Amino acid sequence: MSVAERARREQLLANAAATVDRCRRCEIGSTRRHSVYGEGDPCAGVIVIGEGPGETEDELGRPFVGRAGVLLDKMLLAIGLQREDVFICNTVKCRPTFDDGVRLRNRAPLPDEMENCRPYLDEQIEIIRPRVILCLGAPSAKSFLGPKFSITRQRGQWFEGPSGIPLMATFHPAYILRMTGGELNATKRLVWADLQALRAKLDAAPPPAPPADVVQPSLFEN
Ligand code: URA
Repeated sequence: MSVAERARREQLLANAAATVDRCRRCEIGSTRRHSVYGEGDPCAGVIVIGEGPGETEDELGRPFVGRAGVLLDKMLLAIGLQREDVFICNTVKCRPTFDDGVRLRNRAPLPDEMENCRPYLDEQIEIIRPRVILCLGAPSAKSFLGPKFSITRQRGQWFEGPSGIPLMATFHPAYILRMTGGELNATKRLVWADLQALRAKLDAAPPPAPPADVVQPSLFEN
């Protein structure tokens, strides 16, 4: 990827992150401390999409930096990817919470919230043009594949994502962290198989076509 193209994408992502930060389409836009746009390589081959920011992410304005993030980093490393090599984001960019009377607690994003945030996610995918999309957990996968998607039956399978980009879902690291014993070992084996399939797809996938407005200099021009 050329330096100019990388810089162009960085600028587009920075502009989009600023727009997200001003967004108040949902109530959670006013209860969150920081918006969590996403971070990583603007030219990444993989975009990793989680559900929504939790408490630590909200505090730091960065995705997957709590316990689930530590496990995600290990999952990526297992297939030779540093966190910085991929782009990490979520279906919603603000922390979904409810007030239990004492403090704000995490909850799943509402359909309306996911819908409001969807243009931002689509724009990220369009700017980054990854070779593959990895959805973490059922809500993220369902936002692309519809409500019938079953994470237990369909994780590890390839689907056609936005703009025809191959998309796969695996278990969310937070879900893995709640398991113990034999169930944990069985789940780890499944996730390992998914990650290896992701690695193979990434290695096999052709680099994406350059954007239409970028003219490729020819070696043979006078
Ligand atoms: N879980 C998510 O889905 N996203 C984060 O950023 C952190 C935890």
